[in-house]
Amino acid sequence: MAKKESHDINRRQFLIGSASAFSLMAFRPLHSVATPFSAADAQQETQTTTGGTGMTYRTQNGSGEKISLLGFGMMRLPREQEQVDRLVDYAIEHGINYFDTAPIYGQGRNEGVTGRTLSRFPREKFYVATKMSNQNRDLWSFERSKEMYENSFRQLRVDHIDYYLLHSVGSGGMDALRGRFLDNGLLDFLLKEREAGRIRHLGFSYHGDVKVFDWLLDHNDTYHWDFVQIQMNYFDWKYAVRNRRRGDANAEYLYKRLAKLGIQCVIMEPIRGGSLANVADDIRQQLRHSRPDDSPARWGFRWVGSHPNVLTTLSGMNRMEHIEENVATFSPLEPCTKVEEALLARVADKMAGIPTIGCTTCAYCMPCPYGVDIPGNFAFYNAAATKGTLPSSDAPAAEYKKRLKEYTTAYEETIPKKERANRCQDCGECLKKCPQQLLIPTHMKRLVELTKKK
Ligand code: SF4
Ligand code: SF4
Repeated sequence: MAKKESHDINRRQFLIGSASAFSLMAFRPLHSVATPFSAADAQQETQTTTGGTGMTYRTQNGSGEKISLLGFGMMRLPREQEQVDRLVDYAIEHGINYFDTAPIYGQGRNEGVTGRTLSRFPREKFYVATKMSNQNRDLWSFERSKEMYENSFRQLRVDHIDYYLLHSVGSGGMDALRGRFLDNGLLDFLLKEREAGRIRHLGFSYHGDVKVFDWLLDHNDTYHWDFVQIQMNYFDWKYAVRNRRRGDANAEYLYKRLAKLGIQCVIMEPIRGGSLANVADDIRQQLRHSRPDDSPARWGFRWVGSHPNVLTTLSGMNRMEHIEENVATFSPLEPCTKVEEALLARVADKMAGIPTIGCTTCAYCMPCPYGVDIPGNFAFYNAAATKGTLPSSDAPAAEYKKRLKEYTTAYEETIPKKERANRCQDCGECLKKCPQQLLIPTHMKRLVELTKKK
């Protein structure tokens, strides 16, 4: 298994290395920029403090807790506990104090790994977030869900959970919300747990059907959400409409609705599964022209952190260089200016014109019973789409033939035979697990079509 994961990382590194080249005409260079990014910057001044480490903190509205604006998403940790410990040591030493896990991460191992590493520190050094991951229908009963909740305490080695979330509400629509939390009495139970202090802050993470998001906020007088976790980045701000039929909403809508209610946000996918770190060459150059020392990832994090209603920004940091760069970005955070915001909005517009699949490589859909490496296939396709090297049958015959050969050769070198798109049997297992609501088997068919000679 360790071998498989390291293989996956290498594959993604390969894909990252192959990033992109398409033309960005509408950019203007940025030099001196002095206009504040947000109208609420005055509010941000009072919300943000820097501690001895230089890290930027936000104050949690209800408790006054100082939460590091950079949070540690534990989902994609390395397998070796020693490596995890090294990353977490660095994080805590540099002021990160928010750690996010879930019972289903790491095939059920992640909470235990998180508990082991955090238990080496005094309890007041960290805030831990975990979730009710009862998405699977077998776990909808009150008893099974309560078992999952109680197990989280044992795995995390704590007597209270700082931030507890209903995991991925919105997937499965209102029926799933009722089945998982309302009809079985589980939400009432969790509210009582909050009253008793075993849960310090109660919230939910949202993906999918916006009717569920709206319903939960419409009932805020009953539930008093302490925070809500949403997917937000400069692309999804405007373009995160994954499934129009289900009435999904973009991040601007989610953020503004929460801000209006005074509910702070925890942000997931700040660089959209890495796609905002691996931008096309033209975009990279334009960003560099404005800030020569900053990576595209840093731009993405700064954009998110510039929003005053963000409590913390989760980053899945599984390598030391990631954590070092991110710590530098947030110590202290230099908010985006309006001019920089406008530049990133134009980048997003440009990206929206590229036919990528909205996969964040979260791997929630895995394992596929037929062995398809779903995120690997999509990452491969997306890298080619961003690079502009997809074989398009609209191209002149000779060009098409050349591109098809290059694409197919690279695909075969990157994705092992048993994990390719053509192994998909359209069983639908993955559909219910994808927080992005992607029509995975349909995309797999498109990928297969792409490698067929026309
Ligand atoms: S629909 Fe295809 S990709 Fe999805 S789980 Fe089934 S076989 Fe795997
Ligand atoms: S297809 Fe969906 S669940 Fe699977 S890795 Fe991509 S975003 Fe995650």
